[in-house]
Amino acid sequence: RALAAQTQDGLTVAVRANVEIPEEAVEAREEGAEGIGLYRTEYLYIDRLHPPTEDEQLTAFRAVLDAMPHRPIVLRTFDIGGDKFVSTFKMPVELNPMLGLRAVRLALLRPEVFLEHLRAMVRASAFGDVRIMVPMVSSVSELVWARQMLEKAIAQVKAGGAPVAEHIPLGVMIEVPSAAVLADHFARHAEFMSIGTNDLIQYTLAVDRSSRRLAHLASPFDPAIVRLIERVVAAGERYDRPVSVCGAMAGDPLAALLLLGLGVREFSMEVSAIPQVRETFRRVTLEEARR
Ligand code: PEP
Ligand code: MG
Repeated sequence: RALAAQTQDGLTVAVRANVEIPEEAVEAREEGAEGIGLYRTEYLYIDRLHPPTEDEQLTAFRAVLDAMPHRPIVLRTFDIGGDKFVSTFKMPVELNPMLGLRAVRLALLRPEVFLEHLRAMVRASAFGDVRIMVPMVSSVSELVWARQMLEKAIAQVKAGGAPVAEHIPLGVMIEVPSAAVLADHFARHAEFMSIGTNDLIQYTLAVDRSSRRLAHLASPFDPAIVRLIERVVAAGERYDRPVSVCGAMAGDPLAALLLLGLGVREFSMEVSAIPQVRETFRRVTLEEARR
């Protein structure tokens, strides 16, 4: 737990945690996570009739920041819809919810809810190393819009007299194949990229991520997935943008080694996977991972 995620030839990588509720951040710290690479904020919206207030959201974000001071905390804007059902929004019945009104698409439809969400994140930024990322982005215009909304939220919070961090990095999740294909364009508009392999695999291989019967088809080792990840890493290198992986692939020791060999240097995973993945990195050289 106390040892760094360092390969035998001395390369140190970041191992961070995915959390869904603030209490998990405490466990993450105890397992030695170097920050939160994915806070799934949509859980704040679950099982309730109205969206959480800005203050309520701020309290939850601060709890995560307090659990892990001086470390990067990546707040993902709500990924509602698809496999993540919530009662807060009256969602239309869709034949293919995974391809429907989900995440940033819902934000575009309910900008006032999104803006309140962003204001809570902006207010939290005064208390730690807050970074914000947007899920399910499929076109550059959605990211450009999210940035405009973030700027608006920052202006509103400042106008209200509350402190705000000097800079709040805005990143994009690469989890729709179109975003992976156009990673170089996204890299110009995002300050970091985080590959969501759960959805990237689902959408690239056309395998419903919730299907048990098709789970064997959803392989992170599929060459199509490997090639897309290579592409995103190359775009990150070209534009000097950090690339992390926060899907379940990052928490699978063998797949994590593949990612390491492909050039990924930041990993975020469920807390329980952290010790084993860190130990795995310590057993190999970068050259072995590349091979
Ligand atoms: C992913 O899609 O890989 C991801 C990390 O996001 P989620 O599992 O919350 O959709
Ligand atoms: Mg996802």
